[in-house]
Amino acid sequence: MAKRLYFIDFKKCLNCSICLPRESCEYKCIVQEAVGDALFIDNSCRGCGKCLLLCSQNAIKHLEI
Ligand code: SF4
Ligand code: SF4
Repeated sequence: MAKRLYFIDFKKCLNCSICLPRESCEYKCIVQEAVGDALFIDNSCRGCGKCLLLCSQNAIKHLEI
């Protein structure tokens, strides 16, 4: 069965941090290592898609693998 992976497209992301608060992802997969660094989705993502709805820039994308 295909797995859906989510990632942040760095070319589109404005680093606004709207998706960063803990409540954006119940699994806490959206990460920023230091203030000002690019955000990324770590490999504990469960593919629920909730974060996709938060980004007005369409910077959160998914792949089927
Ligand atoms: S909400 Fe979108 S533009 Fe803002 S930090 Fe998250 S991915 Fe980037
Ligand atoms: S798809 Fe779901 S589990 Fe993955 S980062 Fe977004 S909110 Fe978190």
